[in-house]
Amino acid sequence: MTALVRFAPSPTGYLHIGNARPALLNALFARAEGGRFLLRLDDTDRERSTEVFAAAIEEDLAWLGIVPDLRARQSDRVAVYDAAAERLRALGRLYACYETPEELDRRRKRQLGRGLPPIYDRAALALTDAERAAFEAEGRRPHWRFKLDHRVVAWDDLVRGEAHIDCASLSDPVLIRADGTYLYTLPSVVDDAEMGVTHVIRGEDHVTNTGVQVQIFEALERPVPVFGHHNLLTTADGEGLSKRLGHLSLRGLREDGYEPAAVRSLAVLTGSAESVRPVASLDALAGLVDLAQISRAPAKFDPQDLDALNARLVHEMPFGEARDRLLALGVPEEEAEPFWGAVRANLGKVAEARDWWPVVAGPVVPVLTDAAVTAAAADTLPPEPWGPETWKAWTGAVRERTGAKGKALFMPLRLALTGLDHGPDLAGLLPLIGRDRVARRLGGETA
Ligand code: GLU
Repeated sequence: MTALVRFAPSPTGYLHIGNARPALLNALFARAEGGRFLLRLDDTDRERSTEVFAAAIEEDLAWLGIVPDLRARQSDRVAVYDAAAERLRALGRLYACYETPEELDRRRKRQLGRGLPPIYDRAALALTDAERAAFEAEGRRPHWRFKLDHRVVAWDDLVRGEAHIDCASLSDPVLIRADGTYLYTLPSVVDDAEMGVTHVIRGEDHVTNTGVQVQIFEALERPVPVFGHHNLLTTADGEGLSKRLGHLSLRGLREDGYEPAAVRSLAVLTGSAESVRPVASLDALAGLVDLAQISRAPAKFDPQDLDALNARLVHEMPFGEARDRLLALGVPEEEAEPFWGAVRANLGKVAEARDWWPVVAGPVVPVLTDAAVTAAAADTLPPEPWGPETWKAWTGAVRERTGAKGKALFMPLRLALTGLDHGPDLAGLLPLIGRDRVARRLGGETA
């Protein structure tokens, strides 16, 4: 059977790096297994779900390199959930409850006061038809709870190994709100069943749900998928990431110029058995991920690690990948490749290349600090064509003439040619600056 996995965000906010983790773990699993990836928008919360967020999710996944094989939206499928709910009612597994939130709250407080766990007491199961009718006459609409079997649900978790939830310690979950809308629990099971999802890979915040959902699969007589619950990404101080706060949103990271491969590497390798390192391709990353090896401790990461990962990716980035972005920065096509070769080792982000093209093309205001060195340099300037060896031969000649070496030789030349005391290796930049501009800058001219 071909694997079918799904990533099921609700379109109520922008995806952040913490959401990238399940998205990628699912996509990489599908890739490794030759399976398919379903993007399912959990948009039953009509108040908070928006088209803007739905479109943004597609876009952000595409940026990460994830193109879903299949797509679905829960808001299109309410009739299917209604049918499943009807079935559960007929089985006596879905029952109407009329308590208000305040009543439930009072009851919970009483239980806690007596040292009891605040579990729903199933009072609604004992209601007579007349009592129910009285509530309805008052204008109350029921919410609907799933009647759990009080037993232990166990499964072999892809990440955690033997896992179990004692459903006797849980309240019967509300599946349908009083306004008739569905909470996430039932639609998720119905969709996983109907769509043939084989592996449910999601965050460990859903472990308890799995106990409940396995019971719903079983009640509906549908095969139970394989589950895997991965640890959640948290910042170094253990703080969780909230989609609603837009903390480290994928679009924010993209706007800040991070490479998707840097974000992918951090999102996936943190808290895994592998060291966090830059992995450029999805295939290579898929080869590194073994769900069974993911740690059970929180996956703590430092957002600043992104900078180092990004820089390492940029330093090795082939020209082809940077080309379009360099052209967009105004680098002429004929010079873009040698320019990339000259500057990439100096960049933390591709966009920083924009700082260096003006140093090549000018105008640069030269800074002349050592007349002897710059004069000797002007005198010994070799004829073009220039190549990668020109710098070494030329500075060798200047050294011979002046006796200057090391920093005393290179810094006056750098300041004269670039107007700056730092920057990419001049051996690469020199042929791009070209003899004419070099000669003028050595002469103190803005060029
Ligand atoms: N919409 C749920 C969430 O984003 C989906 C959880 C699941 O994968 O089942 O948490």
